Amino acid sequence: MYCEKCFRIVEGDRCPFCKNRKLRQPEPNDLCLLAEEDYVSSTILEDVLKQNGIPFLKKGVLGAGLAIKVGPMLERSRFYVTYEHLAGASAVTEELFSAAEEGSADGQDEQEADT
Ligand SMILES: [Zn+2]
Repeated sequence: MYCEKCFRIVEGDRCPFCKNRKLRQPEPNDLCLLAEEDYVSSTILEDVLKQNGIPFLKKGVLGAGLAIKVGPMLERSRFYVTYEHLAGASAVTEELFSAAEEGSADGQDEQEADT
């Protein structure tokens, strides 16, 4: 189910984030929250989404005024994609950040195949 307030896909009949009960079936063009990342990660993610041809919306969490005060390095960005692209974008995001967190490639024989 889809929560219009949080832009999230949720399980059950109530949103666990905002307690909203007015959930509905997601539609292909519904915006869904993909990730919230800091400045460095969001720059990388933006590039990867573009490379994969996934359209997305990027919004600063702090807002432009505050971002100028604290500096762009502390700015965090939220990425939204439409529901039809959510599965693909999530896979790309997970792959990107799981790879980035790995110290070494040793002992990695797990395969994460997508269906
Ligand atoms: Zn919600």
